[in-house]
Amino acid sequence: MARVGTLPQGGCGLRVAIVGTGIAGNMAAYKLRDGFDVTVFEAAGYIGGHTNTIDVEEEDRTVAAATW
Ligand SMILES: Cc1cc2nc3c(=O)[nH]c(=O)nc-3n(C[C@H](O)[C@H](O)[C@H](O)COP(=O)(O)OP(=O)(O)OC[C@H]3O[C@@H](n4cnc5c(N)ncnc54)[C@H](O)[C@@H]3O)c2cc1C
Repeated sequence: MARVGTLPQGGCGLRVAIVGTGIAGNMAAYKLRDGFDVTVFEAAGYIGGHTNTIDVEEEDRTVAAATW
C-alpha cells in the first residue's frame, strides 16, 4: 500500500474518488487537495461520519458524549 505522502504532486491530472466523509475520507481529501482532481461521495445527509460528539448539559457541567 502506498503512503499518501509518496503520491505524485503538482497537478498530475489523476482523478480521485473518495467514498465517505468520516475522518479518514476527510483527511484523504485534504492530503490530495493539491495536485489531484478530488471528488468526495457521502451517503449520509451530513459530513463527518461517526465522529459526532455532542455536548450534554448536566447539572453544573458540560460533558462531551459520543453518539452511538
Ligand atoms: C456507532 C459509532 C458511533 C461513534 N460515535 C462517535 C462519537 O460520537 N464521537 C467520536 O469522536 N467518535 C465516535 N465514534 C468513533 C469514530 O467513528 C471513529 O473514531 C472515526 O470517526 C472513524 O472514521 P472513519 O472515517 O474511518 O469512518 P466513519 O466515521 O464511519 O465514516 C465513514 C463514512 O463513509 C460513509 N459511507 C459509507 N459507505 C458509503 C457509500 N457506499 N457511499 C458513500 N458514503 C459512504 C458513511 O456515511 C460515513 O460518513 C463512533 C464509532 C461508531 C462505530
